[in-house]
Amino acid sequence: MPKFRTVRGMRDFLPKQARIMRYIESLTREIAKLYGFKEIITPVVESYELLAAKSGEEIRQRMYAFKDLGGRKVGLRPEFTASIARLVATTLRNEPKPLRLFCVGSLYRYDEPQFGRYREFWQSNFELIGSKNPEADVEILTLTNDLMQKVGVQNYWFKIGHMGILRGMLAEEGIKEENQNPVMQKFDKKLWEEGLNMLKKLKVSEKCLRTIKSLIEIRGAKTEEVLEEIRKRVKDYESSVSAVENLGEILNLSFESGVKFNVSIEPAFARGLEYYTGMIFEVFVPELEIALGGGGRYDKLIELFGGEPTPAVGVAHGIDRIMLAMEKQKIKPKIPMEPLVVIIPVENELKSKALELAIHLRRRHVCAEVEVMGRTVTRALQDADRRGATHVVLVAPRELKRRKVVVRNMRLREQKTVDLEKLPNEILGG
Ligand code: AMP
Repeated sequence: MPKFRTVRGMRDFLPKQARIMRYIESLTREIAKLYGFKEIITPVVESYELLAAKSGEEIRQRMYAFKDLGGRKVGLRPEFTASIARLVATTLRNEPKPLRLFCVGSLYRYDEPQFGRYREFWQSNFELIGSKNPEADVEILTLTNDLMQKVGVQNYWFKIGHMGILRGMLAEEGIKEENQNPVMQKFDKKLWEEGLNMLKKLKVSEKCLRTIKSLIEIRGAKTEEVLEEIRKRVKDYESSVSAVENLGEILNLSFESGVKFNVSIEPAFARGLEYYTGMIFEVFVPELEIALGGGGRYDKLIELFGGEPTPAVGVAHGIDRIMLAMEKQKIKPKIPMEPLVVIIPVENELKSKALELAIHLRRRHVCAEVEVMGRTVTRALQDADRRGATHVVLVAPRELKRRKVVVRNMRLREQKTVDLEKLPNEILGG
């Protein structure tokens, strides 16, 4: 037999990592609950057509796409938003708005594997559907900020922009959306020169080129100043000016509500996914060059999938990358250490008693493992220590006759005889 290993770009999560992954997931669930987002579970496999419709060339090319045995062209989801837009355009069409939907799960992109970039990765995804107002954008920013706080990452900041700034200019220059998209993808990757060259070929005016070039250089944290600077530069493009105003409204509303997060406003910031129409953002920490999460407003997507015109704003948090950020910043997850009991029968005849005792303890919410390797007591004790057991219960004939067991506290290295009835309290109480 060959030595099997994981397929390139795929990873196993061993217990230590799985525990942290699930811990982060549990924090995203807490956020969903606190903000009123209801969980939905959508399929990993969707029709290729749906997934390819509006995700952008970049993601289309990296999709796990194949024909199923029935000859249908399908794909593994590279993101959640398409599935959610499908639902909102169909099954949830007549649901009262807003809808607040939350999903968490694995996604698949045939990216080149590298640090923080995997072919299977995990996201928590929040979509607020039905509102065009800035307060909806603020909710998405705020919940992302809350998640970062809960995780405990330090010195994170929001890179923030607005798709309407560049797209507004290009539309006024008569550039069709499908021709704008490849330029946005270049800008998303900071390939500024390549993007500008594409624009030259599309014959945008000199003024437009100059303005975009000057926007690339602007970035800063002082909201009023930066926005004023952008406004000055795009003043001849009406829809870009209103995009800047919309961004200003969102940021002011956030700060007036008392949320505190660091921002870097970047007017030439674009995102690879094609469907964004308004405010866009990504979250970074100094230790990683890759984003921990990203999102924005997408007001046309649901209509594109045959639904009513429905404005929406959302975010996806990269769970794998949040895990990396925690590792880099040496942040320990705040997972309470639960007591773990290992039950060791001192003789073969007491196996059933050990099993029975384990069942009894589990019913009282005590985590219990039974020694199943037939080890001697000494060996079993050593093994329990290695496994991080907080207590060992020795089931021995003499004590059992008096309805007692011997409990060894592994941390204090103390041993005492305890009544069976009092055992759960003995363990849970300390
Ligand atoms: P996107 O759906 O591209 O907006 O990505 C949202 C977030 O998902 C990113 O900010 C990352 O944190 C995470 N992410 C995207 N692609 C990958 C990947 N290949 N590996 C790990 N995380 C990813």
